[in-house]
Amino acid sequence: MPNKKLIAANWKMNKGLVQSQQFADELKKYFEKYKLTDTEVVLCPPFTSLDAVNKKIAGTPIKLGAQNMYFETIGAYTGEISAGMLKSCGCEYVILGHSERRQYFNETNAIINKKVLKALDEGLKPIVCVGENLQEHEDKLTESVIDEQITVCLSHVSEEGIANVTIAYEPVWAIGTGKNATPHQAESVHNFLRKKLKKMYNDDVSKNTKIIYGGSVTPENAKELFTPQTVNGGLIGGASLEAEKFIKIINASNSK
Ligand code: PEP
Repeated sequence: MPNKKLIAANWKMNKGLVQSQQFADELKKYFEKYKLTDTEVVLCPPFTSLDAVNKKIAGTPIKLGAQNMYFETIGAYTGEISAGMLKSCGCEYVILGHSERRQYFNETNAIINKKVLKALDEGLKPIVCVGENLQEHEDKLTESVIDEQITVCLSHVSEEGIANVTIAYEPVWAIGTGKNATPHQAESVHNFLRKKLKKMYNDDVSKNTKIIYGGSVTPENAKELFTPQTVNGGLIGGASLEAEKFIKIINASNSK
């Protein structure tokens, strides 16, 4: 299994500059008191707060990530943000293929693949989101949906590249709904993902790839959800907006 777990905060379209800085200050205080031995923490604020949060977390183990990026390098793409721009703001990670991007902005697996390849090329670590929607879940199509998502999203990603990829299993029916997957459901999909990685790459990749769970993780259910060995942390939406709650989730991961 990967040597460190990962807890990432996806703030989505929440928090302006001042709120982002306040949150970073609160989290910094926590890191002044506690040393995390086996969990990496990543904040993914909106683009407009990346630089400010980066300055706040300088010198701490907290890492910075973006919520999206475009796959082109530079040019006439009004409103888009490149991998190079993210790097210049201090990003180490980038969330790609979040279900909200797929749902509201028509991102396909093929587009996500272009983004993954570009992120890796530029030295960013993608957090690639996959997961089935409610209908697919009810129709028992979870594995075939995820199989297709992984096949296409990771197409042409080398063995060297995959070492820098984190996969986030996020059942769409669990995102922002308060209805989390059970630890058993998460475990079973994570195991399926590892089998898939073994087929696409090899045993080492299957064992060493970080696979995190996302979907209504809270301070109350985090410990249980992080219990299966194959679950290597979480992508946290709603519960990452309050520092106190987010810190409880970090603690649940670190003390597992
Ligand atoms: C997410 O947006 O990735 C997410 C998991 O959201 P929530 O924790 O609010 O379900």
